[in-house]
Order: sequence, then structure tokens, then C-alpha cells
Amino acid sequence: ANTLMAGKRGLIMGLANDKSIAWGIAKALGNAGAELAFSYQGEALKKRVEPLAAQLGSDILVECDVADQGSLDRLFETLKEKWGTLDFVVHAIGFSDKNELRGRYVDTSPANFAMTMDISVYSFTAVCKRAAEMMPNGGSLLTLTYYGAEQVMPHYNVMGVAKAALEASVKYIAEDLGKLGIRCNAISAGPIKTLAASGIGDFRYIMKWNELNSPLRRNVTQEEVGKAALYLCSDLGSGTTGENLHVDAGYHVVGMKAVDAPDI
Ligand code: NAD
Repeated sequence: ANTLMAGKRGLIMGLANDKSIAWGIAKALGNAGAELAFSYQGEALKKRVEPLAAQLGSDILVECDVADQGSLDRLFETLKEKWGTLDFVVHAIGFSDKNELRGRYVDTSPANFAMTMDISVYSFTAVCKRAAEMMPNGGSLLTLTYYGAEQVMPHYNVMGVAKAALEASVKYIAEDLGKLGIRCNAISAGPIKTLAASGIGDFRYIMKWNELNSPLRRNVTQEEVGKAALYLCSDLGSGTTGENLHVDAGYHVVGMKAVDAPDI
């Protein structure tokens, strides 16, 4: 344990269960002394999220569907009433119709394109705008992205296009809010088995490929993403904004299949 986050208050969005990347991040920040609030999508998730939040001493749980601007307003109103100010927000949310996370990108429907962009991209901007109003002393905003934004990955399709837009929005938000002492960054996580990942076609193959071909010759864990989030959300990251920090066992630097990787 450490005290890097002592005296800091923040919101974690996107906790669904104990496999969520949001959980790895919440543990790292909570164990470093942060006071946490959680938002969850829909009442069905409440019974999962409540005991996890309790483990980290948090009893601030707010239902929020990020596709609904009114729901986002109510979330931040609640935090304003409880806390007044905020030091960090972690946005670990993405969504697309899983029927379009296989096959060809070019077949994406207009309705799913718009929905994917709204939930996976615009929601972060909408969150940052509201959070910044509660950060008079500066703060840290963090989202989660994937290498499929930078290079073509099988089946990632419309989500890759959305993550590219998300990564661009991180840079624009960093510029807009930097003068207020608010930093904005992304973590590009390697493939991790979660609920959202299970919607991606051939995800096990993608994990195996990363394990065999990344410089560290393994996959990363939620806890490792948590440690990187601790850096970005704490004072350790005070000089870093607009960044896309890869926590992917180095996969993003690889240009070719490893010589020791067997055919899979
Ligand atoms: P997860 O399923 O545990 O989390 C996804 C979360 O998004 C869930 O809590 C879900 O409730 C929430 N969500 C979806 N639509 C929402 C809405 N309309 N309103 C509010 N919440 C909504 O999966 P995860 O893998 O932990 O995903 C977290 C983030 O990490 C996502 O942005 C994902 O794209 C990103 N990511 C995941 C991986 C991976 O391999 N798992 C790799 C890189 C990036």
C-alpha cells in the first residue's frame, strides 16, 4: 500500500464485475488512499457493484447510462452535493453491437456506428465537461483505449474507428482543460478477458497472439492497468497530459511475428 492518492476524491465509471478493467483501477487507487464513487449502468448491475465498492470503503454508487445526457447531469449533481469538488475521473466504458464486432468493418450499419461513437467516444467528452466544472484545483481525466485504433485488428471494426476518435478527443480535451491544471490521458490496454471483450469475435485467438508475440511474451492484467492509472491519476503523472500510455506488454512496438512464436 502507498498514500499517493490520500486526500483525493474520484469517480470510477464502467465497473461491471470483478473482471472489469475499472476494478483493477479502482483497487490501485483505493489502496493508495483515494476516496471513490462509482457509477454503474442500469439497476441490474447494482448488486455486483455494491459489494465491490464496499470492499474499497465506498458507499457512493450512482446509476448512470452515458447515452442519456440527463442521466449524466444527475450523476454529477449527486457528486456535487456529496463532495463539492473532484480530483479525478476514470472512464472505462465502451459499447458496440457484437454482431458488428466480427465480419467486415465496411458492413457497419449507420445506427450502430452512431451508437458506438456516442457511448464509446462522446460520453468521455460529456463526462470531462461536467467533471472539469468540479475541479477548481485541477485534476486528472482518464479513459481506456485499444491498439485497434492505431492499426487494424481482426474483428475490432467500428470499435477501432471509435477508439481512434476517442484518442483524438483525449488530445483536444488535454488542450482545452490544460490551462485549468486538468490533465487528460488514455491507457491503451492489451487484450484482457472481460465482459466487453467477450463480444469481440475470436477474442481468445487475439489474446493468444498477443501472448506469443509481445516483447514480454505474456498478456497484461487488470492490476497492471491499475498501476498505470495510479501514475496518471496521482501526482506522479503531474507532467503528463494528452498521452496514450500503452500497457500492453509492449505489443504496440512489434512489426512482425516473433521468431519463437509457434503457428496458432
Ligand atoms: P467491462 O465489460 O467490464 O466494462 C465495460 C463497461 O462499460 C461496463 O461496466 C458497462 O456497464 C459499461 N457501459 C457500456 N455501455 C454503457 C452505457 N451506455 N452507460 C454506462 N456504462 C456503459 O469491460 P472492460 O474490458 O473492462 O472495458 C472497459 C474499457 O476498457 C472499455 O472502454 C474497453 O473498450 C476498454 N479496453 C478493453 C480491453 C480488453 O481487452 N478488455 C482492451 C483495451 C481497452
